[in-house]
Amino acid sequence: MNRAKLQTLAFTLAISLTSLVLVAYSSTAASRSKVQLQVLGAGGPEINDRRAGSSYLLRIDDKALVMIDTGPGSSLNFEKSGAAFNDLQALLFTHFHVDHSSDFPALVKGSYFTGRKKDLPVYGPSGNDLMPSTKEFIDKLFGKSGIYRYLNEYINPDSQSNYKIQAHNVRFGKNRIQTFNIAPNLTISAISVHHGPLPALAWRIDAEDCSIVISGDTSNEYNTLIKLAEGSDLLIAHHAIPEQATGAARNLHMPPSEIGKIAQAAKVKHLVLSHRMRRTEGSEEETSAIIRKHFPGPIDFADDLESYPLIGCEK
Ligand SMILES: [Zn+2]
Repeated sequence: MNRAKLQTLAFTLAISLTSLVLVAYSSTAASRSKVQLQVLGAGGPEINDRRAGSSYLLRIDDKALVMIDTGPGSSLNFEKSGAAFNDLQALLFTHFHVDHSSDFPALVKGSYFTGRKKDLPVYGPSGNDLMPSTKEFIDKLFGKSGIYRYLNEYINPDSQSNYKIQAHNVRFGKNRIQTFNIAPNLTISAISVHHGPLPALAWRIDAEDCSIVISGDTSNEYNTLIKLAEGSDLLIAHHAIPEQATGAARNLHMPPSEIGKIAQAAKVKHLVLSHRMRRTEGSEEETSAIIRKHFPGPIDFADDLESYPLIGCEK
């Protein structure tokens, strides 16, 4: 082997070793961390965006306790993540667009085979002319005249089932954060966010002294996200449009500069961009540069099944 080849081999080995050390470090950090946010779906509504639709799991001691949104493909990724449906303490919806809710009936049907015995609280927005409330969404799926009325036992108090779905409408409120305790050391809080004409919520989860905020889809026109995200350890922001977007897309979503301003003003510790779409893909460097004009902290782009350990905030 000549000298040049030897040098190339040594360089390749060094790179491989560095990658191994980095992988080992991140998995060690993840396994040390009690609280983690796992992404089940980092995509949007497109059929060809190579990712599942919006969905997340909050895990404590590796148990999936809270699921946020159930976009298309999330039930398969739920299985891949190794999560157990019986561990879920609550399921939260940001809103009822298809890319945030379509796998819900699949999860409920699948739960038949899990032997779950504990009722499942489901929290989501109240409705308007364009969208059902959370109670109506569930009733139109599983009610006596619902599409999946063969699963009526999950909401009908007079019928036999191992557990019931308990639906909760979170009232519209852009000036008030609404908080619910769902387990010891685990609270969920919502605030209304502007998402065009649709009722929509952003969610905050406070677990073991760590706080995670999920923006859901929003243009942030109500300017409510900063309040909810104040001092949070992790902000998952939905990055559905590039900076130059206008019209309907801009009325529904926030551009990178808005995300950067929110992250900075709320003093979040870590920003993760999710709800990625083809119109934003390939512009990650440009997006990061725009956000960095406002927010100096770490920025990541989400992919399906990635986990973000919360480090340094735990009890
Ligand atoms: Zn939406």
